[in-house]
Amino acid sequence: MNQAILRVALDTPLRRCFDYLPALEQPLPAIGSRVAVPFGRQRLIGIIVSLEHHSELEIDKLKRIHEVIDEIPSFDTPLMELLCWAADYYHHPIGEVIATALPKLARGGAPLRNSHRVWRLTDQGREAALAGEPRRAPQQRTLLEALLRAPMTEEELTGKREALRALAKRGWLDCQREPCAALTGHPLTASPDAQQPTDIPSTLDGLQTAAAPELSADQRAAVDTIEAAGLSGYHGWLLHGITGSGKTEVYLQLAEKQLRAGRRVLVLVPEIGLTPQLVSRFAKRFPFTPLAIMHSGLGDAERLAAWRAAHEGAARLIIGTRSAVFAPVPDLGLIIVDEEHDASFKQQEGGFRYSARDLALVRARQLAVPIVLGSATPSFESLHNATTGRLTRLVLPRRAASAVPPTLRLLDLRLEHVHAGLSTTAVTTIEQHLAAGNQVLVYINRRGYAPTLACTACGWIAPCLSCDARLTVYRQSARLRCHHCGADRELPRQCPQCGYAVKTVGQGTERIEETLTETFPGIEIARLDRDVVRRSEQLESVVARVASGAARILVGTQMVAKGHDFPGVTLVVVLNADHGLFSTDFRAAERLAQTIVQVAGRAGRGERAGEVLIQTEYPEHPLLQSLLSGGYDAFAATALEERRSAAWPPYARLAALRASGTNAEAAHDFLEAARALADRPAGVRLLGPAPAAMAKRAGRYHAQLLLESAERQPLHRFIENWLPAVERLPEARRIRWALDIDPLELF
Ligand code: ADP
Ligand code: ZN
Ligand code: ZN
Repeated sequence: MNQAILRVALDTPLRRCFDYLPALEQPLPAIGSRVAVPFGRQRLIGIIVSLEHHSELEIDKLKRIHEVIDEIPSFDTPLMELLCWAADYYHHPIGEVIATALPKLARGGAPLRNSHRVWRLTDQGREAALAGEPRRAPQQRTLLEALLRAPMTEEELTGKREALRALAKRGWLDCQREPCAALTGHPLTASPDAQQPTDIPSTLDGLQTAAAPELSADQRAAVDTIEAAGLSGYHGWLLHGITGSGKTEVYLQLAEKQLRAGRRVLVLVPEIGLTPQLVSRFAKRFPFTPLAIMHSGLGDAERLAAWRAAHEGAARLIIGTRSAVFAPVPDLGLIIVDEEHDASFKQQEGGFRYSARDLALVRARQLAVPIVLGSATPSFESLHNATTGRLTRLVLPRRAASAVPPTLRLLDLRLEHVHAGLSTTAVTTIEQHLAAGNQVLVYINRRGYAPTLACTACGWIAPCLSCDARLTVYRQSARLRCHHCGADRELPRQCPQCGYAVKTVGQGTERIEETLTETFPGIEIARLDRDVVRRSEQLESVVARVASGAARILVGTQMVAKGHDFPGVTLVVVLNADHGLFSTDFRAAERLAQTIVQVAGRAGRGERAGEVLIQTEYPEHPLLQSLLSGGYDAFAATALEERRSAAWPPYARLAALRASGTNAEAAHDFLEAARALADRPAGVRLLGPAPAAMAKRAGRYHAQLLLESAERQPLHRFIENWLPAVERLPEARRIRWALDIDPLELF
């Protein structure tokens, strides 16, 4: 007989699926559906990955699933294919991949719909319950009593199906679909300044949009080119537009076309909290289009509600961070990845380390829909893809509206008089811009007061005891903190070693703010970094103080570079550009150039022209020179040539086997053993193991083994055979380890 076998993915670290037999009284579930299964002594919820006719186990050894949870699959076929593709490409267990894609509550059995089935007693059922029936079936009796106290939802009844069915057969129960009361508020989250209608129009014939500006010639050309290539087939676009060139307007116009055609649009952004302007621009342009927002700051119930809104098709526009690349969106017509170069698209922690940007490309291809990757500073991967034809580059070389790009100038710190991190030229230029009634932005890549506390006599430096790092000084709160493990101690007044006075060395945002306050009395200064902004409301209030013109100087870290539009800012000062010039990480230069260009892009976005000053001790450095003379393009061309000759990505493929243990030997031994398993693989080079650049972090020792190959194929074929053996190593059980495909940071 041809017995159907259900292959089920479960959220276990085991690198395989599990075979089960179908439930006896239920129809065969579709692929992508949730099922409850017995697993050891537990009851787990999994997803059907495939229907098979053969199992490696004998049929009579297989257990039956408890039940199929949903009539409809959680993931449709293309999304299921994407998840399987990701599991394959990242060499990661499908169960954990699926766990990334499915909200926690849904993994726990919450209904997929924003309404669910509720069971209550009929009049007959009440009488029966009160009469103590049915006497011979204790399970049914318990259930009937429970229902006498309160109605129960389908999810509360999982595992009680037999009793339920028996009671329903006797006409004692009644079932109805009702909205989920457990969920607070409207399922579609929107930014607070957008008006959301409570009743959602079912058709989009009358898609309403707010007034849009006339496109510039460059924008027009970009939209027309994309449209001419077809809005209903795969095409990968790299929209390389300088900051302020109006990329968002291009997204909006493309989105409008797809929404009008009745299709849905997925927009991926680096961090919602840092880009509230993008969300509100979409919400304002499409005031009556249901919008679902997905990001890591959502609570479990909100996340589930947003996911359901996407899944049931109510949301037409889905804006989300990294994991939203897995959002279930029926009839998806367009994917946009804004700030595609941003490192936050890469999951760098935990087990499943994926790139949402790369998966978005895979998804677009699978669905045969266009995808637009937008950036003012495209990643080298994308620039390279544009030269090989995988992506088509569209350029917006001018600023939209009337704004002109700012002029850049290097300040040689060796020749300047410098006080507390600020050169005299920087101070006088700030003075001029303030006197002209403009605003100034000061960028420094460090938060806190100072990165180091040192003894004036014996050379002692305040170290973190759990990390290979120094503690950062916080003067206002009089604390010493570690930015890597969160260690937090009192700021000592004297050297704990010799008792002499201590002093701070270097500067962070807090100190620069202090210096600026002293230098420019009476001028309001705002600060933006992760210490002052922990929630998005706080960010909004700082941004509002700058946008309104109340704050005249803004001091901050990378956070100031992200997509804000401050038309009053005419001067940007970059305080220390040098940290990225001599790093061992081959991507450091790329990141430095991106940050400088992004920060510089905050200057002169209004009518007044902008100026950018970069303080450096290495003004002749070729990277800074190429950036200054030829902009990001020239810099990228030079740096890409270096990557090619050194055979680094994008001219090679990398994978990193990372390990950490409570002592350095355990991590190292594991990586050595893993390396020994690799028997001179063809076309793959193994480098290491080597300790990470910061080997000790939060009390754990980190090391890595790097795998490098000119092509993707040999690397992946090798990993496929090697990884199962690595997993079986006895050393693997003594440490934490993870495989990182296409690693971004080689720490
Ligand atoms: P980017 O996303 O490329 O940094 P934005 O889309 O934020 O650029 O546009 C920069 C500014 O120019 C915004 O204030 C935007 O409203 C404005 N803008 C964009 N396109 C146009 C246009 N075609 N006409 C007038 N203003 C525009
Ligand atoms: Zn000392
Ligand atoms: Zn630490």
